[in-house]
Amino acid sequence: MEVRTRFAPSPTGYMHLGNLRTALYTYLYARRTGGKFILRIEDTDQKREVKDAVDVIYNSLKIAGLNHDEGPDVGGPCGPYVQSERKDTYMPYAKQLVESGHAYYCFCTKERLEEARAEAEAKGETFKYDKHCLHLSREEVQAKLDAGEPYVIRQNIPTEGKAGFDDVIYGHVEVDCDTLDDNVLIKADGLPTYNFANVIDDHLMGITHVMRGNEYLSSAPKYNLLYEALGWTPPTYVHLTPVMVEGTSKNKKTGEYLMATDEDGNPVLDENGNPVKAIVKRKMSKSQGDPSFEDLLSEGYLSEAIVNYLVLLGWSPRGEREFYTLKELEEVFDLEGLSKSPSFFSSEKMRWFNAEYIRKLTPEAYLGHATPWLEKVLDPAKFDFRRLGELLQNRTEVFSQLPDMVRFLAEMPEFSNDLYINKKQKSTLESAKTALTALRPVLEGISDWTEANLHDTVMAAIPGLGMKNGQVLWPMRIAISGQMSTPGGAFEIAYLLGKDETLRRLDASLARL
Ligand code: GLU
Repeated sequence: MEVRTRFAPSPTGYMHLGNLRTALYTYLYARRTGGKFILRIEDTDQKREVKDAVDVIYNSLKIAGLNHDEGPDVGGPCGPYVQSERKDTYMPYAKQLVESGHAYYCFCTKERLEEARAEAEAKGETFKYDKHCLHLSREEVQAKLDAGEPYVIRQNIPTEGKAGFDDVIYGHVEVDCDTLDDNVLIKADGLPTYNFANVIDDHLMGITHVMRGNEYLSSAPKYNLLYEALGWTPPTYVHLTPVMVEGTSKNKKTGEYLMATDEDGNPVLDENGNPVKAIVKRKMSKSQGDPSFEDLLSEGYLSEAIVNYLVLLGWSPRGEREFYTLKELEEVFDLEGLSKSPSFFSSEKMRWFNAEYIRKLTPEAYLGHATPWLEKVLDPAKFDFRRLGELLQNRTEVFSQLPDMVRFLAEMPEFSNDLYINKKQKSTLESAKTALTALRPVLEGISDWTEANLHDTVMAAIPGLGMKNGQVLWPMRIAISGQMSTPGGAFEIAYLLGKDETLRRLDASLARL
């Protein structure tokens, strides 16, 4: 049987990294098995809909290289692939379930439900619908429908017995039916809930493998009951363990941070006596400030690096190898390598992956990525970006670092003369002044301002000054860059700045010594 997998995001306006990882596994499994990868937009929760949010999904998948075989924008035999456009698909199945006794109309008012919920909560119990409307007679139901009373359709979960399903990661999962709530299948607005739509659509779209976050694990027994009631074969379930982070945690309602406490429950204070935020292990979350895919891209991470790192968060190729292109992953991905325990996203590891990917770019590709960042602070007509790129490539971890790394070229930073003092280079304030004074005419005498000429001329002049290389080159770098750490050394910087600017900076720095 042909494998058919689907990625079924809700349009939230951003691509959560955990969701992108789900998409990736879903895509890779389809490619590995020669199957089909389907994109379905789950937008039945109309309140949550964000304008342009669907475009974010298309763009994210495209940037990540996860091309779908069927979906809203590319079509396919099982369309439409947007749930709100499938509105009329669900009701007949809901009615079929009502007929067979697996579902029922519910006319309970919001007030009644809220009261019952409050009552349950007061007793410390989790609210479960009490099947109040299950006991309405056929005639009573019809009369209410005829009178136009608002209604929902609920799943009728058996009051006894067990419901379960098999999961590739979690094995056989089984729960007592009496712990399950009679979920709403069709809402008052006529749209299906996720709980219903996922079953109907996965079946109608011929999905063979459902991969999704394990937050759906506890509802999956209910979905299986629906498959059984409709006489359908359930798909193979793969509930993925979550992507976690270690980080601060804030209360979603109040926005207040969870604060660290010691064993006695007292606040932990920092050296200034201020309370310290607690660091907890929690699910990755945009609302807690963790980055989305778009956030990482806009900070200058390469999508290839993100994809490579993400795939390893929860899947192991069972070996030491860490670097894979998407194409290579399409050959080796398997369900057996999926992790049974949660994985942790580490910003440091992400950065490391990115730096490795940046290092491997061709100089042209590097420049392509770097140019927009360099242009934020440097005029491309004034600086040799190609040379700058060569000097920067191995030092770049994320592209967003670049403006700060090159800003000194656009504008001489303020700096302290203490920077001239360097024990290792045997540079003191006095030796720096002597060296720079002697260097001034040497530099002025160079007519063809190339790095090679700068190097050869200055190096040839140093012995005559009776100084060590470091005693000249160190202050030269400080005097023209204003900082200790620069991409390239004194010659490269002088070359990039050009003769006039180099001499201008040298004079200004000398005047301050
Ligand atoms: N729309 C669901 C979500 O975004 C998808 C769950 C599923 O894959 O079944 O979480």
